[in-house]
Amino acid sequence: MARIDLNHIRHAYGSNPRSDKDYALKEVHHSWEDGGAYALLGPSGCGKTTLLNIISGLIHPSHGQLLFDGVDVTNLSTQERNIAQVFQFPVIYDTMTVYDNLAFPLRNRGVPQAEIDRKVRETLEMIDLASWADKKARGLTADQKQKISLGRGLVRSDVNAILFDEPLTVIDPHMKWVLRSQLKQLHQRFGYTMVYVTHDQTEALTFAQKVVVMYDGEIVQIGTPEELFERPKHTFVGYFIGSPGMNVMPVKLSGGMAQIGSHQIQLPSPVMPANAKVIELGIRPEYVRLGRTGMPVKIAKVEDIGRHKIVRTKLENQDIAIIVEEGGDIPAEPHVAFDPKGINIYADSWRVGGQ
Ligand code: ATP
Repeated sequence: MARIDLNHIRHAYGSNPRSDKDYALKEVHHSWEDGGAYALLGPSGCGKTTLLNIISGLIHPSHGQLLFDGVDVTNLSTQERNIAQVFQFPVIYDTMTVYDNLAFPLRNRGVPQAEIDRKVRETLEMIDLASWADKKARGLTADQKQKISLGRGLVRSDVNAILFDEPLTVIDPHMKWVLRSQLKQLHQRFGYTMVYVTHDQTEALTFAQKVVVMYDGEIVQIGTPEELFERPKHTFVGYFIGSPGMNVMPVKLSGGMAQIGSHQIQLPSPVMPANAKVIELGIRPEYVRLGRTGMPVKIAKVEDIGRHKIVRTKLENQDIAIIVEEGGDIPAEPHVAFDPKGINIYADSWRVGGQ
């Protein structure tokens, strides 16, 4: 497996880009560790597939360089890059048996028969298809066919990386959950370098060691699920990750205090962003306490979603979502208080301060 270096990658689909907005990828400059499991997460059109296709060689970037373990592969074909790919829809040979579907990429590379047999059987065990080895792929369900696609990616342990493009989209919700945790275990056991595109945050957060959050052609943050939850670098990350996402509100700062409407809140540490047009405070619903003391709010809506409630409130003109755990009550005269450890301050959407 390989380390992947993305050096100043930019990509425009049109032939005559004039400004940044003509670029599907604006500037991607990162190094991804050998054996890392990375999920590319972001809304539709933010550039995830473009970036994955640049790594796989399906797209040649307009600018920049791609290195695998320090070797420049920018001008190599997909085959020459030695990667495995799993797409949204299963790419398998219907007329072959399940066994032969997995053996095919190994036979193509001249792997000795005994090793093919060992690897194929081991992989079939991993994906729970051992008892289907001799069945023709044609008669299988969509889930099983996608498992074969996954198996074809995983069977080649000599590849530089395995790339996944929304591989679980066609899988039913229960099987999705099973395959996601199997992929995670396989990664922990074999240390593949994996890059996984998804717009589903649950998928990204459960599968990946590092989540790469993209927005409008740029990477806005790479972090562990915990870092993205606790310290979103950009208000977009706070809002996009979490259910519901982070509450973001305009504030005025002075002397270690933040002013929201007519209320003053003590910050965990003083921050003085220079020259910012917009200063905002971000706090996740999990860090807002609903009780009888603090700042008075009006209840706008209560959504009961089983184990907890999402309570939508108004603090003067500001919308604030709160999560109330099972058994927690909603007082007749509700007030909110912010847990200082959940407070982040943003200047022009980017987080500032060392808190
Ligand atoms: P999705 O989750 O919907 O697949 P994405 O994050 O993978 O979206 P991309 O498919 O990489 O995003 O698209 C990034 C931008 O590039 C979008 O504005 C898209 O319209 C544009 N784009 C993608 N493919 C092409 C193409 N072949 N020609 C022109 N523009 C394209």
